[in-house]
Amino acid sequence: MNILLTGGTGYIGSHVAAALISTGHEVVCFDNLANSDAVVIDRLEAITGTAIPLVVGDIRDGDALRHALTEHGVEAVIHFAGLKAVGESVAQPIKYYDNNVRGTLSLVEAMADCGVKTLVFSSSATVYGEPRYLPLDESHPTSATNPYGRTKLMIEEMLTDIAAADPDWRIATLRYFNPVGAHDSGLIGENPNGIPNNLMPFISRVAAGRLAELSVFGNDYDTPDGTGVRDYIHIVDLADGHVAALDTIVKIEPALSTWNLGTGQGYSVLDMVEAFERVNSVRVPYRVAPRRDGDVASCYASPERAARELGWTAQRDLEAMCASSWSFERTLAMRNSD
Ligand code: NAD
Ligand code: UDP
Repeated sequence: MNILLTGGTGYIGSHVAAALISTGHEVVCFDNLANSDAVVIDRLEAITGTAIPLVVGDIRDGDALRHALTEHGVEAVIHFAGLKAVGESVAQPIKYYDNNVRGTLSLVEAMADCGVKTLVFSSSATVYGEPRYLPLDESHPTSATNPYGRTKLMIEEMLTDIAAADPDWRIATLRYFNPVGAHDSGLIGENPNGIPNNLMPFISRVAAGRLAELSVFGNDYDTPDGTGVRDYIHIVDLADGHVAALDTIVKIEPALSTWNLGTGQGYSVLDMVEAFERVNSVRVPYRVAPRRDGDVASCYASPERAARELGWTAQRDLEAMCASSWSFERTLAMRNSD
């Protein structure tokens, strides 16, 4: 298929582009470069040996979308474009509703106008709110504790209504747990601007000496070692989950399906620090800091529905996640010293 990736030069979009091309699909990236760099396209072309068109545009620009969809003969869209910093969403909610919710409305309008009705959407485990039971399956009640999470919930509800009104749509809502790690090539990975919010890029930068120490946000949670437990999933496994979802929705009956993409295994913050140090023979100094607002003690997936319906399960273990994160960090350091 010919697939348009909104947010295609971002962290997840770039890995999905590589996975789609390796399974015979063709991709077009559509991104306003708000949180990524066009150089990612050169790296993807080096990895795949394929020319990849990049349309620099904003998903709130319906004409630009309609032009890209028709010009490139697009048959399906994977929608990654969005803002994702929880703290920023609390401080600037209008920016988040505008970019994420209005942006998605503009996208589905353009898709409907062009007769493209196959869509995979990047949702998040954040839509489960405070877990009432673990592991989290797709039937767990949804709620949101911040504007970012609310944009994901609103979009899920919007897509549910669209699918109910027109059974020609084929929509997959993928609820990601905690994607980490990088492509085996070391050429693409997660490289956030400024100080990382997420644990794994923070650990990598501490190990590289770019940041002094990790703050462990709370060690008094009701977990085995007191630190927060999450379901970390290797980015390459997550990318393969998108290929499986896309291949599945075009063959099945429901107009909308929802799948968790996680491993089902929870690791604590200290588990992550210990694994990163051991696998990469580095030191990650840390100190215990107060809890971060809005964090839950534990969050991990039931990956059973995806296994049963998509024939997909995560293959890569914690060691592979830590090794690939470090390998990408070292590639960055080499590039910066050039
Ligand atoms: P990212 O910031 O690396 O990628 C998002 C891309 O979208 C960026 O390249 C950015 O420039 C682009 N973009 C943002 N707004 C745009 C707009 N209005 N028009 C066009 N392009 C726009 O983030 P990511 O980690 O790759 O996340 C991709 C998606 O997955 C997001 O929707 C995010 O909310 C969701 N998600 C991410 C995680 C995670 O931990 N990384 C977890 C759950 C869900
Ligand atoms: N965390 C931490 N220090 C950091 C960043 C994160 O202790 O600098 C903890 C956080 O409290 C949570 C886990 O690491 O328990 C994963 O956090 P992340 O922000 O990566 O993902 P999220 O909690 O948003 O799913």
